[in-house]
Amino acid sequence: MTDEHIRLQLVDIGRRLYDKAMVAANDGNLSYRMADDCIITTPSGVCKGFLLPEQMVVVDIDGAIRSNGKPSTELPMHLFLYRHRPDVRAVVHAHPLYSTGFATAGLSLEKCVSAEIITTLGSIPLARYGTPSTPELAESLRPHVHTCDAFLLANHGVVTVGKDLDDAYFKLERVEHYAHIIFVARQLGGEKSLARSAVAKLLDLRGAYGQTGLNPGCASCEEDCIGASCLNYDSKYDPASEDRLRPLVQRIAARVRDAAT
Ligand SMILES: [Zn+2]
Repeated sequence: MTDEHIRLQLVDIGRRLYDKAMVAANDGNLSYRMADDCIITTPSGVCKGFLLPEQMVVVDIDGAIRSNGKPSTELPMHLFLYRHRPDVRAVVHAHPLYSTGFATAGLSLEKCVSAEIITTLGSIPLARYGTPSTPELAESLRPHVHTCDAFLLANHGVVTVGKDLDDAYFKLERVEHYAHIIFVARQLGGEKSLARSAVAKLLDLRGAYGQTGLNPGCASCEEDCIGASCLNYDSKYDPASEDRLRPLVQRIAARVRDAAT
């Protein structure tokens, strides 16, 4: 991939994001890691539907600017993903309508309900809220960065990673399509989790798709899903929240005891 080819691809994918209303105005950002570990990224403050190849900004893996222009303000999140995932060559961030709706409602897309998602993307977790354009946003991805390729950003949007720009872009498209399906399913009474045995068969298929390392699904469903065998189970289990709840639980238990005596 030459520098010129990547710049043209960034223009093309920026246009696709804008045309599909997955970004508005100047929202969203894209980047690609070249063989020398330099990153080519979209500029700050430019609509993704009207990018020009010469507007792209080149930075090194520490964020030092190697060309003219101002990089996207979300560059720290992109650099965080590249540093933690040597396999990742491209990052795409946008605000698609349905998936950002889920992220804004505080809902992840982790349940094992779609054969397509289990065999391709794996789990789509909800990263806790982090202020955009600050290192806080990058840090919010830390619990999920090694097990997932697509992340909902609470009250913000979606970010995906891939082995090239098309791969990262198609993952974003897939997340948005899936969020739309779940939205429709909820109008019709709610999505149904796949049985544990069905999920196990789909996990066997993942090898054929080259997706063995990704988190298979949710940590919340116990009967119908793979539950505690989910790779994400430990990171979902938050002892801190249990500590916070302990005094309340103890007060309730004391009241129940008092009422019984
Ligand atoms: Zn954003």
